[in-house]
Amino acid sequence: MGVSRIIVLLAVALMADTAMASAPARKKIDHDVNLSCPKHELIRGQDFESGVNRRFFGKHVARDSVSRKCLPCWDGLFSAKGKYSRNIRARQYYGGGIVGLPVRYRLEYDNGKYVLNLKIHFNFGKRPYFITTKSYVQDDIDFCRMSGLPVVFRKLTKRQAAKKFFLRPWLWKKLRKDGVEGCYARTKAEKELYAKWLLKEAERIWFVDMLRYTTQPVDFKFDYEPVRRKARFKVNMYDSYFRNFYLSSWDTTFTPHAAAHEIGHMLGLNDEYYEFKPRNKDCDDMTSLMCNSDPPARLKKYHYYIVLRRLWCG
Ligand SMILES: [Zn+2]
Repeated sequence: MGVSRIIVLLAVALMADTAMASAPARKKIDHDVNLSCPKHELIRGQDFESGVNRRFFGKHVARDSVSRKCLPCWDGLFSAKGKYSRNIRARQYYGGGIVGLPVRYRLEYDNGKYVLNLKIHFNFGKRPYFITTKSYVQDDIDFCRMSGLPVVFRKLTKRQAAKKFFLRPWLWKKLRKDGVEGCYARTKAEKELYAKWLLKEAERIWFVDMLRYTTQPVDFKFDYEPVRRKARFKVNMYDSYFRNFYLSSWDTTFTPHAAAHEIGHMLGLNDEYYEFKPRNKDCDDMTSLMCNSDPPARLKKYHYYIVLRRLWCG
């Protein structure tokens, strides 16, 4: 989910640029990680399903390595001795590399063990939120039962259905007829509970997917931050389909996978689909979460590589 409103993108990016310009210079950290991994070694063991993934990876690597050598080997990422930490502040480029959107997170490393911390503040709307118990592609979305909020059926008006599900018209017709199962989050506390649940589920996806690649998984901490000024991102949460840039608005139709995808942007990963092609024909590796935010798409080794190497050369 990305560039759907170009004008907003430009406005947001310009604002972000202004904010970043005044950021203090980053402190260089001393370490013993070799930043010159040979290319064949770098590519070895990566699970590129297609040339497109490989091109995206190449673009990421080239972009971050132009001004400084920044190619640690995968094993090298975990083999340094000592304790380091860094607030990562970078930009990722959309739209042909014209504007940069912010990347912000905190990385800590202690003798082979990483902790990645991302704090997000949500601005909640005043009206009750309706949170469905199921997404339309998977069954294990169960915030309502977990939180003890009463599960009810809601009929959608034609307008609501169209608004919520315009991406899947075959679906909203059915949902409008049958009603949608879910629960209402009415108070701020209930909305916060929903936000925390969504982030913890996304955290679990990032953690579990990484177990395929290392026995030293990163301790991901995606937290809801109630205090606005302490958060790295401040995002509006809408009770309807109102998807926009990852840094400006999310909505209650987000599944944990969608949240994990948007967090990928906050951690500096690009979309791996092409914005201007017809929907569902724009993505040629449906197994990658940055291409397709529905299960069974997952995070790939090169996603983790891009996110972690910034500690050493961010
Ligand atoms: Zn996206």
